Amino acid sequence: MKDACGVLTLILALGLVQGCQTTAEGNMVDLVLVNGKVWTGDPGRPWAEAVAVRDGTIFAVGTAAELKALSASGAKLVDLGGSLVLPGFIDSHTHFLAGGFALKSIQLREAKSREDFVARIAAKARELGPGRWIVNGDWDHQQFSPVELPRKDWIDAATPDNPVCVNRLDGHMILANSLALKLAGVTGTTPVPPGGEIVKDPATGEPTGILKDTAMDLVYAKIPEPSFAEKLEAAEASVRHAAENGVTSVHEMADASSFEVFEELARLGRLTTRVHVYVPITEVDALARLKLKSPFGNPYLKLAGLKGFMDGSLGSATAYFFEPYTDDPKTVGLLNGQMFPEGIMEKRILEADRAGLQLAIHAIGDRANSMLIDMYEKAVTANGPRDRRWRVEHAQHMRPADIVRFGRLGLVAAVQPYHLIDDGRWAEQKIGPERVKTTYAFGSLRRAGAVLAFGSDWTVAPLSPILGIYAAVTRRTLDGKNPGGWVPEEKVSVEEAVRAYTVNGAWAEFAEAAKGTVQAGKLADLVVLDRDIFTVPPEEISRAKVRMTVFEGRIIYGKD
Ligand SMILES: [Zn+2]
Repeated sequence: MKDACGVLTLILALGLVQGCQTTAEGNMVDLVLVNGKVWTGDPGRPWAEAVAVRDGTIFAVGTAAELKALSASGAKLVDLGGSLVLPGFIDSHTHFLAGGFALKSIQLREAKSREDFVARIAAKARELGPGRWIVNGDWDHQQFSPVELPRKDWIDAATPDNPVCVNRLDGHMILANSLALKLAGVTGTTPVPPGGEIVKDPATGEPTGILKDTAMDLVYAKIPEPSFAEKLEAAEASVRHAAENGVTSVHEMADASSFEVFEELARLGRLTTRVHVYVPITEVDALARLKLKSPFGNPYLKLAGLKGFMDGSLGSATAYFFEPYTDDPKTVGLLNGQMFPEGIMEKRILEADRAGLQLAIHAIGDRANSMLIDMYEKAVTANGPRDRRWRVEHAQHMRPADIVRFGRLGLVAAVQPYHLIDDGRWAEQKIGPERVKTTYAFGSLRRAGAVLAFGSDWTVAPLSPILGIYAAVTRRTLDGKNPGGWVPEEKVSVEEAVRAYTVNGAWAEFAEAAKGTVQAGKLADLVVLDRDIFTVPPEEISRAKVRMTVFEGRIIYGKD
């Protein structure tokens, strides 16, 4: 041990490695990773070979020769054999607790036909037995051939005793069966809540079972609340899934109830994902009264700020546009229920700003984005300059002039690259060739001065930063029809994509001093990949695998 201390002190004295101050007590390190290709995210030293960890933080970053000596003190030495090391991934937009429930419930994402969809629901009804609700699902009718929305009469015969409430993968539509509609009291004459839609059969006037946006709450309100033990189990499933994907921090878009679950997991010492929670903007009064400035909390669990909704989604034709949908000229989309009564969103944004709270607001259609930028501009003018780091969640379709305004305000574009290779299969049918040019415009947003923070929107898309990086770099749609990239001008480089999943994610949560890069003094959250995504052909990035995930200096996934 003495020798190791001596060597380290010498190394540090010579300035060979970037390291923390040592104490007179000794220099014991816990873990040393050597022979890696370490992308640090630190402009002063972009690449290194080795990382040493002590007490959950990065102790030193340097060459293998320099840091190997430290393992003599009894530290665990891991030879990476040339694997790529990155800062632990930060997923800037998830529905993390909900994801745990989805992992355990019916899987409809892969259902490619009506028959398949019905068969999966029928099987789940048999598995659960009478009386239990069938929920979640993440179906995508764009995958059905022919493309058609599911209907309650498809599944009623198979589910006479199970209420069904299964959502489209974007969370903006559900299909309810007749039993669920009955429990919720939804009929052909039920008043439609603002910001929602009860889809009706044009022939009979009866609900088809499809409910959109705020109308979904009519049925959601009847689903029994899971027990605390079930929530804890779901949270553990999410945390495990994150570790498998190299994700060490998530931004959680949730209701306030997910706090106690992650808090309990942290108390039990099992929270190996840092969770940064945005609660609904409708809670602004309560938070303003507490006079908490966001973010508030500890390195494991933080109250991040407020999440709001301007509109719906493109897939559900509820994203709010200036011009009608190309494939449905009767509609321009829908504003979300949080926009009513008129003026309430702006009032809440101003109040949140006066209270020092960060905002993360969902805007997908070009008009929703434009209106949100107007509101953000007004708040800045009214309350003066401040380090706000306000976010726009999705920022999906933008008019060129609004991209310029977006960048000028220095907003965070909290965007999800996987959506573009998914929606890119059918987006042009919905909004036409002109609007598509500034859709998922990551390159333009970045050049305009926006900060790109990447995420998955899990469970809308898979919780895999590797797939997200692949999507942002290649823009190859899932149907294989755009091998050179869909709207290729908007591609970003591998380095930019990695930054958007690490450095920028940390910045978006005011945590750049603690994480997001591999530097001495930062939290020892790291991911090791089995290949160098910086040098493989871009189309091979999606094949990379997480070899190891390190959280606070502990290997929580993979083998050394
Ligand atoms: Zn989301």
